[in-house]
Amino acid sequence: MRIDIMTLFPEMCEAFLSESIIGRARAAGHVDIRCVNIRDYAGNKHNRVDDYPYGGGTGMVMKPNPIYDCYQAVTEGGARKCHLIYLTPQGKTLTQERVRELSEMDDLVFLCGHYEGVDERVIEEIVDEEISIGDYVLTGGELPALILADSISRMLPGVLANEDAFTEESHYGHLLEYPQYTRPAEWQGREVPEVLLSGDHGKVDRWRLEQAVARTLERRPDMLEAADAAGELTKEEREILDTLKDV
Ligand code: SAM
Repeated sequence: MRIDIMTLFPEMCEAFLSESIIGRARAAGHVDIRCVNIRDYAGNKHNRVDDYPYGGGTGMVMKPNPIYDCYQAVTEGGARKCHLIYLTPQGKTLTQERVRELSEMDDLVFLCGHYEGVDERVIEEIVDEEISIGDYVLTGGELPALILADSISRMLPGVLANEDAFTEESHYGHLLEYPQYTRPAEWQGREVPEVLLSGDHGKVDRWRLEQAVARTLERRPDMLEAADAAGELTKEEREILDTLKDV
């Protein structure tokens, strides 16, 4: 998978993408992520990439041409077929399901806006999809693009130690994950649940499922309701849920 991030702040993105799991995944060739500076395509001697909004108002708007020329360079004049995502608070809110679907594509391009955003015409011309990371507004699209790159990359083969690392996690299915504990077995007078020290894998699995269902019911009942309506609850999950509701 190759991801090109079109941004005015490539160093900001590189700083994050060079560290930890994603940094190692890039170094090992599991994912090819490139940060491309839109300013390199400014096309004027002052390297100007933004301008005042037509109609007045505060802030600046990113000009269409540098973005378009940057996109042309990334796609080699259209020879590379890429799926271009504009990160914007006006987009569809990102979900784990969409992350999974995107992780099956080969060539993604992310466009990071800044200031008041980008000229609408370039969105109409080149953007395939608009994604928001939540109902709040940030100063730029770099953090959203990094969130998207991170969430997609960790689903690619070889990036995490094994697939369970993400298939068992919150939001992969319709449950939040069970609570996690590590050593020491007692900390500040708080003990790790005894079952986790029992070595009985069957009991541990059952306890984890009960915890996951209870936690989801408490924090995100909407997820359970949706799964129930879609007939996705397993027999075991339904039993646990019914018991919890009777209490
Ligand atoms: N004027 C725009 C509006 O009201 O919809 C907001 C522009 S915002 C200040 C600047 C840039 O940050 C956007 O172009 C977008 O790339 C990015 N951005 C801000 N919040 C975001 C969010 N919740 N999800 C994705 N991108 C976001």
